[in-house]
Amino acid sequence: MTVKIAVLPGDGIGPEIVREAVKVIDALNEVFGLGAECEEALIGGAGFDGAGDPYPEQTRRLAKAADAVLLGAVGGPKWESLDKPLRPEAGLLRIREDLSLFANYRPAKVHRQLLDASTLKPEVIEGVDILVVRELVGGIYFGRPRGWEKDGRERRAFNTMVYGESEVRRIARKAFEAARLRQGRVCSVEKANVLEVSELWRQIVTEVHEREFSDVALEHMYVDNAAMQLIRHPRQFDVIVTGNLFGDILSDEASMLTGSIGMLPSASIGEHHAMYEPIHGSAPDIAGQNRANPLATILSVAMMLRYSLERPDLADKVEQAVERVLDDGLRTADLAFDGGHAVSCTAMGDAVAQRLRMLGE
Ligand code: NAD
Repeated sequence: MTVKIAVLPGDGIGPEIVREAVKVIDALNEVFGLGAECEEALIGGAGFDGAGDPYPEQTRRLAKAADAVLLGAVGGPKWESLDKPLRPEAGLLRIREDLSLFANYRPAKVHRQLLDASTLKPEVIEGVDILVVRELVGGIYFGRPRGWEKDGRERRAFNTMVYGESEVRRIARKAFEAARLRQGRVCSVEKANVLEVSELWRQIVTEVHEREFSDVALEHMYVDNAAMQLIRHPRQFDVIVTGNLFGDILSDEASMLTGSIGMLPSASIGEHHAMYEPIHGSAPDIAGQNRANPLATILSVAMMLRYSLERPDLADKVEQAVERVLDDGLRTADLAFDGGHAVSCTAMGDAVAQRLRMLGE
């Protein structure tokens, strides 16, 4: 059986890091018979340059027909003066909306070889392996009414934090399902001591847990406490599920535990589609220099194998190959803290693909 992967390199370092991730997919095909077919299309600034649209129709068709989408990054100074709907970021927002990607998965895993990259003490972060599952298309970022008004001489602005039962139910299910593939623990984060919308959140998460996922451990935590616990004792968390606003903040906080932006993958998942991408941007400052770290994109392939292609065995292999390469001491420039020798983006991708082949022997 073949699986179809839509590959959207995008801008800046996007094409460089995606090329290395495709090498890894090629190795999975050769050694483990994955049967993946990759087809490339334009997005972001490249979409505007090539087709006059940051999310061209051809890309849209490919993404909708694919089993999963792999994206590099979009954006860069070249396109900053364009009208908003033509800017690269508009392409990203449109593909997320078009594919109804309501759940954002952001793992924060501390690699023991890179303990020094964090600003926290090694004994606090050693062994940290957290997955933040953030609701992506609802909550205060989209709630209505929203806007500005004038009350006498004073200007006011307002937003609405709103969730419906079905929105909470579907994200809760995604978090519990993800926990079953990990350590089987979910921490639901909200502010139910103050907000009605959080009271509803807590009720629905509890209900979904009792009815469908009683094998998974569930705890509830207020967001202020969660922000504190992430720094104080991050190892206590497995899966954190939360709404759009709290998730935006907590997923960035969790990712910084690891200290290395070039190592962090992500997934955006809907009922029928899913897109995988590194959390970082297009890094125009190093684009075209073969210096980017491709590991976040390669680890995004591992997430794709786990969450879309139902190959957790191969996801483990890719993660193991990355661990081995780090054990071998290979570091791209962003990770070569002690002034040690830095390898190129290409060399890092080659090394992971080679390690993967060795794991298959
Ligand atoms: P950035 O993540 O691109 O870069 C921040 C810093 O991290 C830079 O110094 C960069 O060199 C470094 N960096 C990032 N990824 C790296 C990697 N894989 N290896 C080594 N170093 C890496 O953020 P920015 O500079 O704020 O944004 C640059 C462009 O990217 C902007 O146009 C922005 O809109 C866009 N952006 C896109 C996405 C996305 O496509 N999802 C996300 C964030 C920013």
